[in-house]
Amino acid sequence: TAAAALARLAQGDIALLVLDYVLPGGLTGLAFYADLRAAGHALPVIMVTGQSNEATVIEALRLGVNDFITKSREYLDYLPEAVARVLTQVRTARRLAESEQRFRALVQHVADGILVVDTAGRVAYASPAVARILGAVPTHLAGTGATLLHPDELAPMQRQFAALRAAPGATARTTLRLRHRDGGWRHVEATLTNLLAEPGVGGIVCTLHDVTARSALEAQLAHQAFHDALTGLPNRALFTDRLAHALARAARHGETLAVLFCDLDRFKVVNDSLGHAAGDRVLIAVAERLRRCVRADDTVARLGGDEFVILLEGLADSGEAVRVADRIAAALADAVPVPASTPPDVFISASVGIAVATPDHDTATDLLRDADVALYRAKQQGAPRYALFDPLMHAAAAERLALETDLRRAIGPGACAEFLLHYQPIVDLAGGQVAAVEALVRWRHPARGLVAPAAFIPLAEETGLILPLGRWGLETACRRVQAWSGGPGATPPALHVNLSPRQFAQPDLVAAVARVLAATGLPPARLTLEITETVLMAEAAVTTEKLRALTALGVRLAIDDFGTGYSSLAYLQRLPVDTLKIDRAFFQAGGRNRAIVRAVTELAHGLGLAVTAEGLETAEQVAGARAAGCDHGQGYHFARPLPPEAVAALWAGGRQGPLPAAGDAARPLTTTRGADPVGQPPRPG
Ligand code: C2E
Ligand code: CA
Ligand code: CA
Repeated sequence: TAAAALARLAQGDIALLVLDYVLPGGLTGLAFYADLRAAGHALPVIMVTGQSNEATVIEALRLGVNDFITKSREYLDYLPEAVARVLTQVRTARRLAESEQRFRALVQHVADGILVVDTAGRVAYASPAVARILGAVPTHLAGTGATLLHPDELAPMQRQFAALRAAPGATARTTLRLRHRDGGWRHVEATLTNLLAEPGVGGIVCTLHDVTARSALEAQLAHQAFHDALTGLPNRALFTDRLAHALARAARHGETLAVLFCDLDRFKVVNDSLGHAAGDRVLIAVAERLRRCVRADDTVARLGGDEFVILLEGLADSGEAVRVADRIAAALADAVPVPASTPPDVFISASVGIAVATPDHDTATDLLRDADVALYRAKQQGAPRYALFDPLMHAAAAERLALETDLRRAIGPGACAEFLLHYQPIVDLAGGQVAAVEALVRWRHPARGLVAPAAFIPLAEETGLILPLGRWGLETACRRVQAWSGGPGATPPALHVNLSPRQFAQPDLVAAVARVLAATGLPPARLTLEITETVLMAEAAVTTEKLRALTALGVRLAIDDFGTGYSSLAYLQRLPVDTLKIDRAFFQAGGRNRAIVRAVTELAHGLGLAVTAEGLETAEQVAGARAAGCDHGQGYHFARPLPPEAVAALWAGGRQGPLPAAGDAARPLTTTRGADPVGQPPRPG
């Protein structure tokens, strides 16, 4: 029966069925074949039919019979060949089906999306990965009204499609931005292949590789390479690039542009005293305020540390750049709140150097350098804290650089061979005798000759070279003066040594002074350290403590150049200072100054301070100082700063007694004892 035959076939050990059209029991071959397929058997079937039975043959083939053989006399001869052919066919088909299945599985599971689109860009097939990449399956890639492509890429994509369509088998690669369902853009690398002629494909196959994450990373890296991590501002590289482009544009259109170089004043103090976290907060606040001072398309960049630069384009005139500098000063005037630090408010200011581009400025570097030179000038001059670049500054900057180079060479640790000290007597105005000498440094430059301190002390201060130089000066002077005290009965002079602000700020200053005193044997009471008012202005508490520690050593203190700074006598009252040196400016021009000197001297005496008049050049000035009540006088009238031998001779010659009194016919020491040739205007006559 049919059922029995089907059961037998189900055992699976039969590879091929040869089925006669006429079966026993009234069953037709075709009916059995239908049952067979209905039961799910995939067995290949060869049908055997009668010669006359053409309609049956057609029906059998339609139903899927693999082959048929006409029942002629020779049919058995043909059978083996037919069996072999069908079996081969079946195996091939199975392999094909398997490979197609594998392929399908691959397509379904690869991370890259695969789209098949027709020549109009309509999507014929989209793999699941496409939906994963784009959030949905698109219907159209590049045709009219395509919303999938980024607007910038629509036209290039249409061109690419047109080119591909004309070249069967051709492949093109491109990167695209495709719209994600969430409205964002995905970056994909697309490979487009024209498989229009390929049976079973008939389209342009696009594989889409999602590189959004990589693009984001690249963008982030690019941002990092061109921006400052702390403030998010452009960095030097980006600034220089923008400046170069802006210069080219400005030259083409005849526009004015300027670079502002800003440097925070005393930022190091903030960093050192409040810590780096506070410093960072200040920098971030400054960055933000600077941004607010300029228009949106101007560039504010951070070069590093506390240095910022601003590029201003399309200026009406250079005055506009100055107005921005004013705005910066105003914007920075408000305290920067730094919670959790004491004090919680940090006051900051900036110096600004301005360089306006001229046709001479070929490169960004040129303009930046000029702004930097102007900045240096701004730093030096004080309020207003900005300066416009002036070509004359170039010469000064070059000079400064040369001097700095020489200075670094000349000052080594413990070795200051090119330096020497001169000593200027400080005279008791009542008795006329030398009460003390002030050590003043000179630089015997191999090419320039003797260089005055005004020409190199500020630079040494700025570069920190003042520290080794100052240490050397203090020690040399102490040793020298101590050596003069050998003579029997002679009262040796006291010694005044200048201390620069930077030296004073050194944490180990007190210990260093103590060491020098111990090493040289100079009694501490014979040493007076001269400091300027600026030193006293900074951080009152620390300053006072340091001054007390110095006086505890037995050292005396003098305020130098009094009257040129801002300190008041009331303020000085609280400080352990012994002497006030009134600046020479007060003794130069007549009347009104004399009244001031008298008042200051009285007040100082009231506070227990001695007063020294500086820069007394004439007998008249000496008389004025004496009349005002000053205790001591110093100046060319008595003596210029003298080389040590001259002072020693003065001493050894018993001249520790009164110097020639002011107004004496005796000529001042300068002319008799070897003038100090450094940096002083020649005296008339
Ligand atoms: P200072 O401390 O006020 O020194 C007095 C300056 O006035 C000296 O200039 C001196 O030569 C000059 N002077 C003295 N009498 C007269 C006068 O009658 N008329 C005029 N016009 N000038 C007079 P110098 O030696 O050129 O020193 C200039 C400044 O350099 C000093 O001013 C001081 O601030 C600084 N300095 C000098 N040596 C040292 C040093 O070893 N260390 C430090 N930190 N600073 C020093
Ligand atoms: Ca001095
Ligand atoms: Ca002085």
